[in-house]
Amino acid sequence: MSKQRETLGFQTEVRQLLQLMIHSLYSNKEIFLREMISNASDAADKLRFEALANPELLTDDTDLGVGIEINKEQRTLSVVDNGIGMSRDELIDNLGTIAKSGTAEFLQQMTGDKQHDAHLIGQFGVGFYSAFIVADKVTVESRRAGLEADAAVRWESDGKGEFTIENIDRAECGTRVTLHLKKDESEFAESFRIESLIRKYSDHIGFPVSLTEIGGEDTAAKVVNSATALWTRSRTDVSEDEYKEFYKHLSHDFADPLIWSHNRVEGKREYTSLLYIPSAAPFDLWNREKPRGLKLYVQRVFIMDDAEQFLPLYLRFVKGVVDSSDLPLNISREMLQKNPDLTAMRSALTRRVLDMLKKIAADEDEYRQFWGEFGQVLKEGLVEDHANKDKLAKLLRFATTHNGNETQNQSLDNYLERTEKEQDKIYYILAENYATAIASPHIEQLRSRGIEVLLLTDRIDAWLVDSLAEYEGNVLVDVARETLDLPDDSDDKGRDKLNDDHKKLLKKIHGVLKERVESVNASRRLVESSACVVAGEQDINPQLRRMLEASGQELPDSKPILEINVEHPLVIRLSGEDDDGRFDALSNIVLDHALLAEGAQLENPAEYVQRMTEYLLNLDIGADHE
Ligand code: ADP
Repeated sequence: MSKQRETLGFQTEVRQLLQLMIHSLYSNKEIFLREMISNASDAADKLRFEALANPELLTDDTDLGVGIEINKEQRTLSVVDNGIGMSRDELIDNLGTIAKSGTAEFLQQMTGDKQHDAHLIGQFGVGFYSAFIVADKVTVESRRAGLEADAAVRWESDGKGEFTIENIDRAECGTRVTLHLKKDESEFAESFRIESLIRKYSDHIGFPVSLTEIGGEDTAAKVVNSATALWTRSRTDVSEDEYKEFYKHLSHDFADPLIWSHNRVEGKREYTSLLYIPSAAPFDLWNREKPRGLKLYVQRVFIMDDAEQFLPLYLRFVKGVVDSSDLPLNISREMLQKNPDLTAMRSALTRRVLDMLKKIAADEDEYRQFWGEFGQVLKEGLVEDHANKDKLAKLLRFATTHNGNETQNQSLDNYLERTEKEQDKIYYILAENYATAIASPHIEQLRSRGIEVLLLTDRIDAWLVDSLAEYEGNVLVDVARETLDLPDDSDDKGRDKLNDDHKKLLKKIHGVLKERVESVNASRRLVESSACVVAGEQDINPQLRRMLEASGQELPDSKPILEINVEHPLVIRLSGEDDDGRFDALSNIVLDHALLAEGAQLENPAEYVQRMTEYLLNLDIGADHE
């Protein structure tokens, strides 16, 4: 049954992707060839790898390579490899579905605007389906290495919604992908055009890529590329463009990388690494399950994709190759984990990445781009990688009260350059978003005194400040804590200046609110607001508490401390309030406002509204309207 010709439908996501790809990548259509050659070369790599364990898969006279055949008359272009091939099931899975999770959500972000969509598709990674940009029919014939000739399969589709699959007989193992070019794409059946594209996009492929013109006079296959894996060449021999093209081959990214670093390490451990930092985050950067890591070769033999052991999780956006001379060829993921050489390689590669970032950071605009894409991931490093804490801290960028907007572009060094001599602390506030942070009562006093505050609004920030704790001898201080040490407190409206009336008032308010707050104090940090809530020294930060609770964690209850601005008109009104009911109501309102201002949810919003309404109606301002 399974040998018969079957017509199957593409997964919905594939159908959508095909439409979008054809539409948005049209102005860059030639990249399809890079994708096809890239897949063919990967297939050759995979066969060589499988042959390590099953030598019979690769006879001595097999020269692995990629062939391009063009036929002007029939308007076809074929990419032929003698690599691993695909079985029937593999063909259906690989070319009929997209396994990446989050694809459906990703596709929803498409707008129909070509430039925007092309950028997004680039982040997704263009692959086999790019063939349909130039072809109105694609035929794939493949025989999996190790399977009999009659287990070969033919897959065919016009890229509209369905594909057919049937068994065929095929003498050779490997895959032939034939593009039936659209009428106005006949340029891709011209040898000079294809030759220049191979040179441009695939010169660095480690296998020979040859070109044959079928039906023309010159039918002999001619090797077009230099067929040496790029990373094995010396740095001085590789041009910028070649590095960029190799990156695109490796990552299926559409855009140029931001920076790369190519190094050969000799001595006790010998290996070459070529690491890239992409210019844009992939669509599934936040999917922690997504495969990540470097492409591992041992003595130029491909071993595995996504070897995640070479870099820490927070550097999951780095792409690249590592080619070791010492690791055994039969190394598995499990063995990698235990290999003692790995620890040293991992720290050396991590350092290389951090050095690259330092280099980018020298250019503010470029670094802003990097930070916008990957800053939040890099912040995980502070929590994860204590050994590199100092280097990472220098790479952090923040929005601060100095900026006047939410761009995260101030380093801790920038902050310290602006502080007065007597200040030996770095102040920060944690908040849900920029608007809440900048308007927060907690920072009023600091702002009015010109003391800069870091405005921390990313989810990870609460952990970040915890791990960082201090920078170059300056302790990081949460401005929403009970004790707040400001430099030179002399002009502060402190507790010391409280008179007996104030003390009585605080006590009375506490009497009303004791179920809701731990204590009521006079505030030293407020200027315009009537009150704010702060956390005790040992309490969990309210912002962090909200996040943990939102993720389902149960935390022991703790009551906030209410701080009152004794000079605020509302508080003065409160102190003159002789009706107990109104005093209670206004005390509660002051507390509710303090909670709202820091971004908290009121436990009982309806009660607040009712209290507020009643209080307003009871004010002596309605008389005139009678
Ligand atoms: P990607 O290469 O990013 O995984 P593609 O859409 O280009 O995505 O290809 C999907 C899968 O199809 C590949 O991962 C590979 O398993 C398989 N494939 C594509 N081309 C070939 C080929 N020439 N030989 C063997 N397998 C191939």
